[in-house]
Amino acid sequence: MRLKGKVALVTAAGQGIGRATALALAAEGAEVWATDVNPKLLDGYDGVPGVRAVPLDVLDKAAINRVVAGIPRIDILFNCAGVVHNGSLLQASDADLEFAFQLNVRAQFWAIQAVLPGMLKNQGGSIINMASVCSSLKGLPNRFVYGTTKAAVIGLTKSVAADYVGQGVRCNAICPGTVDTPSLADRINANADPVEARKNFIARQPMGRLAQAHEIAPLVVFLASDEAAFVTGQAYSIDGGMTI
Ligand code: NAD
Repeated sequence: MRLKGKVALVTAAGQGIGRATALALAAEGAEVWATDVNPKLLDGYDGVPGVRAVPLDVLDKAAINRVVAGIPRIDILFNCAGVVHNGSLLQASDADLEFAFQLNVRAQFWAIQAVLPGMLKNQGGSIINMASVCSSLKGLPNRFVYGTTKAAVIGLTKSVAADYVGQGVRCNAICPGTVDTPSLADRINANADPVEARKNFIARQPMGRLAQAHEIAPLVVFLASDEAAFVTGQAYSIDGGMTI
C-alpha cells in the first residue's frame, strides 16, 4: 500500500491508460477521484473501493476549478487527457493544432494551476503529465500536431519541476510507446485495411507487440509515491524499446 493516505485526481480516467492508472493508484491505497468527459465511461467504477467518479471536461477551466475545489486535498495529479491527430504538417489545419494544444497542453496547465496552491500549502505533491515517445524524444511520421503538443508537455513539465523543486512539489512526464487502448483501436479501424494498420503499429515496436494499459500504470504509481521522492523534471519513456 504505497499510496495509503494520499489523494489522487486523474483526468481521462474513463478508459485506456487513465482507467488502468486510476485502478492501480486505488489498489495502492490512494483515494482516487477518477474523472472523464464521458460520464458513461465512469459507470465502470461503481463499487470499486477507493474510487470516486466525477464527470470532468478538461477543456472547461471553470469545471476543473470546481472539481478541484470540491476535493479537500490533492497529493497526486495525473494529467492523462489527450488527443491524437493523424497527418503531416501540410495536412494539419489551424483548428487541428489549436484543438490539440487545448486538450494536450492547456488542460494540463489549467489542472496544475488549480491543484498547485493546495500542494504548496501542504508542502508536497506529485504531478504526472501524459506526454508520449512521439514528442521531443522522437519524430514519427504523420504525427505533426501530436508530436508538437507532446513535446510542449515535456517543456511544461520541466518548467513546473524547476519552479517548485524547493517546495516539495515534483512534476514528471511519462512517454509511452504504442498502447492498445480503445482510441488506438478506433484509429486502427478507421483504416481501409485495419489488419495491415495494426501490423504497422506493431512494427514500430521493437518488442514486436503493443503495450497494454496496465503496463503503463505502474510507472505513474511509482512517480506518485514517496519512492520517487528524489525524482522530478524527468520525461520517462515506457515504450517497449522505441527510443533505444
Ligand atoms: P483513450 O484515447 O482510449 O481514451 C481517452 C479518454 O479521454 C476517453 O475516456 C475520453 O472520454 C477522455 N477524454 C477525451 N476528451 C476529454 C476531455 N476534454 N476531458 C476529459 N476527458 C476527455 O486513452 P489512451 O489511448 O489511454 O490515451 C490517454 C493518454 O495517453 C492521451 O493523452 C494519449 O495521447 C496518451 N498516449 C497514448 C498512447 C497510446 O498508444 N494509446 C501512447 C502515448 C501516449
